[in-house]
Amino acid sequence: MTSDSSRRVLLAAPRGYCAGVDRAVITVEKALEQYGAPVYVRKQIVHNKYVVQTLEKKGAIFVDETEEVPENAIVIFSAHGVAPVVHEEAAQRSLASIDATCPLVTKVHKEARRFADSDYDILLIGHEGHEEVIGTMGEAPERMHLVDGPADAAHVHVRDESKVVWLSQTTLSVDETMETVDALKERFPQLLSPPSDDICYATQNRQVAVKQIAAEADLVIVVGSRNSSNSIRLVEVALQAGAGASYLVDFAEECEDAWLDGVGTVGVTSGASVPEILVDGVLEWLAARGFADVQVVTSAQESIQFSLPKELRRDLRAEAAEKAAHAASE
Ligand code: SF4
Repeated sequence: MTSDSSRRVLLAAPRGYCAGVDRAVITVEKALEQYGAPVYVRKQIVHNKYVVQTLEKKGAIFVDETEEVPENAIVIFSAHGVAPVVHEEAAQRSLASIDATCPLVTKVHKEARRFADSDYDILLIGHEGHEEVIGTMGEAPERMHLVDGPADAAHVHVRDESKVVWLSQTTLSVDETMETVDALKERFPQLLSPPSDDICYATQNRQVAVKQIAAEADLVIVVGSRNSSNSIRLVEVALQAGAGASYLVDFAEECEDAWLDGVGTVGVTSGASVPEILVDGVLEWLAARGFADVQVVTSAQESIQFSLPKELRRDLRAEAAEKAAHAASE
């Protein structure tokens, strides 16, 4: 067994909550305060078990489809975005919808619409079945083709090879996406690239940060849920960058003592939908096993913030104005 003095933890920074997740979680909390429980949320607001369970306790009800929401109720759309048809369904059921789609996902939706309107075939690099992919494909289903990894590039058929553009899911591995783009470019030399990165700043920063610690780590523990795309990518990137082993855990209780056999350096990071309290739990678990020396390895600073969805801001403003008027009249 390694001695205590050679046991250390490298804690990646940035890690955890991104601006889009922070906004989505606050949206549900503020909506519960403003309108009272229950507030319905279509799909998991963000892909994290703990966050969903905590919001459920406060009165959020998570549903899979809009039709499960009672008429005239409030429904919040998750950070992953929805297809236009979902907005239509909500309107048909007279639901008051609040759209917590991350603005960086909305950006990809807008690109998809713009290229579809210009009659391009759009090759969307992403993972089949992921909510974000379903939402983005829904912007122009007749023009979009899903490309799920480099091997898929061989099977794509487009109408006009001179009018093809690629876009991507926001939470992919940067390196793997570039491999897919290269494979697509071999097939379609005139393939157009998106005007700016679709893989978001938070995904990219967390991958760079985990790479930095993985090369020195015998083990990398990634805190995140199994349905969180960006968290799963962190495990893959850690392994590719040289980590001896890497595991994804929702909670510290899932960590196993056997993982620490012969281990001197443990890397720790977390996905973009993970609150810091869960990372603290893993650090405590490690400290109890002799890994109390924690060194933070910072590769970038983040300061991005997004304003709340406009529907919610409008109602919060109206209530503040009403309160001010009431106070003035007293
Ligand atoms: S991971 Fe990126 S795209 Fe997804 S919510 Fe966070 S900032 Fe937005």
